[in-house]
Amino acid sequence: MNRRTCPHCKGRSYSAYSGLNWDCPYCGKNMDNVDNELCDIPSPELEEETPTIKLYAINGGKY
Ligand SMILES: [Zn+2]
Repeated sequence: MNRRTCPHCKGRSYSAYSGLNWDCPYCGKNMDNVDNELCDIPSPELEEETPTIKLYAINGGKY
């Protein structure tokens, strides 16, 4: 599981897939250049910090 934090809106998204075309599910900005933050499973603590939409943001579509 990879995690990326959008530099534009600070939204976090998760993907089991670390390929290209990772667009932010919140603001739609492309995050191909954002480093993966490795994480196993999103922890409940993180979810409380920031509203998090867990989805596989590889298609770039709105949720
Ligand atoms: Zn964003």
